[in-house]
Amino acid sequence: MDEPEISVVIPAYNEEGNIFFLYKKLSNVLKSLNKKYEIIFVDDGSKDRSLEVLKKIKDKALKIIVFRRNFGQTAALDAGFKHSKGKIIIAMDADLQNDPEDIPRLISKLKKGYDCVSGWRYKRKDSLIKKFFSFKAKIIRKLIAKDNVHDSGCTLKAYRKKCFENLTLYGEMHRFIPLILSIKGFKVGELKVRHHYRRLGKTKYGPLRVFRGFLDLLVVKFWMQYSTRPIHLFGGLGIMSGLSGLIIGLYLLYIKFILQQGIANRPLLMLSVLLVILGVQFIMFGFLADIMIKLYYEKTTNYSIKEIL
Ligand code: UDP
Ligand code: MG
Repeated sequence: MDEPEISVVIPAYNEEGNIFFLYKKLSNVLKSLNKKYEIIFVDDGSKDRSLEVLKKIKDKALKIIVFRRNFGQTAALDAGFKHSKGKIIIAMDADLQNDPEDIPRLISKLKKGYDCVSGWRYKRKDSLIKKFFSFKAKIIRKLIAKDNVHDSGCTLKAYRKKCFENLTLYGEMHRFIPLILSIKGFKVGELKVRHHYRRLGKTKYGPLRVFRGFLDLLVVKFWMQYSTRPIHLFGGLGIMSGLSGLIIGLYLLYIKFILQQGIANRPLLMLSVLLVILGVQFIMFGFLADIMIKLYYEKTTNYSIKEIL
């Protein structure tokens, strides 16, 4: 069979200065493994000479996917994964911050029975502010989703191809791939990897991305817990809200009819009405979400089969 065994997927957006050096270094490492490999660069709508640099490289092992415009790193990774032929897929950044020399170690750890081995940049070479926000993000990830992976944002990871059957990545979900995979029941491990300062080109993300990351995390958490039963979340909120409104309402009735005092000028009255209306809204929303989920799961399943014996 002439199919490659290892596919390396590299999203690149305006990385003209880095691509060739990375390609050279990476090819040397991959050759030393003595396995058939392919290198997939995804040019994510670069506006610089990245694509020209890529086209100049003459190598049968090189595949270039060219996006029409910039669709983002997650989309680029997704396209790369979907076009990979190898049973083992490595993802890495194009900016030389990840080190190809770590790939053999990632693969040997993967072979110890993992489905995904995630790189951990334990000596991360980024600005202090970025590291600070990442640290915060890690705590939130741990608290909300019980995700114990130290460095989920590191692109350098090794996967088995089967991780991506029935999985489409969208938005900025690439930072939560280990979490998503472990939710699906895949075995995820970690390995300390090197990290270098970016020497050429610019980072595409400011430190404020952590806020968007937080919202994405909420989506993952919601998906993980309630994707098959949204009514439990919305219905629960609805009942809590409606019941509180009702209790306050009863209290106001007591004041009006037993204590014989006026309640028209009491802010509590407004709160009570608000809570009851909100409660009804939440429950209705839960029903709608349930209908949508039913439609969604007609096309796919919420479980993932390991093997059939
Ligand atoms: N990238 C991409 N599309 C984008 C943004 C980034 O393909 O819209 C690529 C980028 O070229 C790099 C990797 O994703 O190879 C990581 O981006 P960057 O180095 O800017 O992130 P940082 O290391 O600063 O977190
Ligand atoms: Mg980088």
